[in-house]
Amino acid sequence: MELISMQGVTKIYRTKEIETVALEGVNLDVHEGEFLSVMGPSGCGKSTMLNIMGLLDVPTEGKVIISEQQTQQMNDGAMAEFRNRMLGFVFQSFHLVHSLNVLDNVELPLLYRKCSEKERRELATSVLERVGLSHRIKHYPSQLSGGQCQRVAIARALVGAPRILLADEPTGNLDSKMGGEIMDLLCSLNREGTTIVMVTHDEHLAKQTSRIVRFFDGRRVQ
Ligand code: ADP
Ligand code: ADP
Repeated sequence: MELISMQGVTKIYRTKEIETVALEGVNLDVHEGEFLSVMGPSGCGKSTMLNIMGLLDVPTEGKVIISEQQTQQMNDGAMAEFRNRMLGFVFQSFHLVHSLNVLDNVELPLLYRKCSEKERRELATSVLERVGLSHRIKHYPSQLSGGQCQRVAIARALVGAPRILLADEPTGNLDSKMGGEIMDLLCSLNREGTTIVMVTHDEHLAKQTSRIVRFFDGRRVQ
């Protein structure tokens, strides 16, 4: 069963003078439980594809169906709620809030839910334990290594128990040892049932996933 189905997705960015076709007629299905790698040269549309798949951006043409829901028919509020419940995001540059400590960063997504303070604390503490950061919950992002920051970001992405984790170059800012550790964490989360789609430049990491799709110039290639 497909958990995500992108059908005929085209994305055109239009600014005053320039028109950029970032994606052209892309079809892509993501199956429940898989760990999919997305590869291709810089500028080929990988981030655009991931942002559209994650409902952070809308396609110019085409459909994105997630868990049998036609997402283009949702209004903004319904889409935000759906995204918050179904999807977690991890980026290359972590995107942590520097003025908040680790625990508060991880609790952030729960502020949008009907969730008591005590529940928030318990969920965040347990997911931080899962990523191996129980001993750093009072630290601030500036006091952590890159690998630890990415663990915090992964914990924040997972705290609402999404079915899908979307990761854009999650190891791109890390040295190979820390990158390998983050990859091990992602693989074990996938074995526990989270469907993962990861953009990466690293063939060695991609080989550890269940399937690789490649893009070139806005299209899928074989
Ligand atoms: P990749 O992630 O594979 O490096 P992107 O999806 O970031 O590729 O970009 C695909 C193409 O779309 C590039 O040519 C890029 O310059 C263009 N692009 C991406 N985001 C924007 C934007 N917000 N406005 C205009 N052009 C964009
Ligand atoms: P990444 O981790 O993919 O290198 P960032 O963490 O800097 O990228 O940004 C997160 C997302 O925001 C990216 O997927 C990218 O497509 C989008 N983005 C970043 N900068 C811009 C920009 N100047 N205009 C439009 N979109 C952007």
